[in-house]
Amino acid sequence: MIDSYKHKGLRNKLVDKIRERGISDEKVLSVIQEIPRHYFIHDNAFLPYAYDDIAFPIGAQQTISQPYTVAFQTALLKLKKGDKVLEIGTGSGYQTAVLVKMGVKVFTIERQKTLFDKTKNFLPSIGYRPKFFYGDGYKGLPVYAPFDKIIVTAGAPYIPEGLQLQLTVGGVLVIPVGDGDVQKMIIVKRVSDTEFEQEELEEFKFVPMLANKE
Ligand code: SAH
Repeated sequence: MIDSYKHKGLRNKLVDKIRERGISDEKVLSVIQEIPRHYFIHDNAFLPYAYDDIAFPIGAQQTISQPYTVAFQTALLKLKKGDKVLEIGTGSGYQTAVLVKMGVKVFTIERQKTLFDKTKNFLPSIGYRPKFFYGDGYKGLPVYAPFDKIIVTAGAPYIPEGLQLQLTVGGVLVIPVGDGDVQKMIIVKRVSDTEFEQEELEEFKFVPMLANKE
């Protein structure tokens, strides 16, 4: 795989576009600028569009998220170096790579075996080493909890209670919620052992978060 000057130039333009759309977190923008998104698109038909601000099919009826959405969710997490972060929906691993490059410890769950196997092999081969789990994101990872931040990259019909309870006090969950075609981005902050605050932001389109499946 080659990351050429042309690719870097296209990434600069992509970052300009995302910045114009309102992302101002410079660390997030620089990470998007550094990661070759074309490495994550394994279907040659889509390769020429790797740096367009759009989502693509990655097989198993799933998609690699739109770069703007990846930047938006990552910025909402307000990551601090060394944070323990749980990601639900590994998919292509692009969002996972962004998190790893932000300098946090990443635990990522995927429920589709084919995608799990593929990305678990692929990401370390290009230098990213999160901890991979095959399982159901609704359950989170109780054994490794609590997490400083949790990000869900599929549209959830509701906020899974189990996930909220795996946050540290002060921890944040970013999750697109809605059971139709569109979801509202919601931030859940754990303010004490028993109290949670919610903030609703704009609408996005994600593939649905589904129950665990072979
Ligand atoms: N961040 C990924 C997005 C992939 S799309 C990327 O940019 O490539 C959402 C992913 O969530 C899919 O891979 C889908 O299989 C996965 N998913 C859906 N429901 C899930 C669940 N309950 N637990 C874990 N992963 C799930």
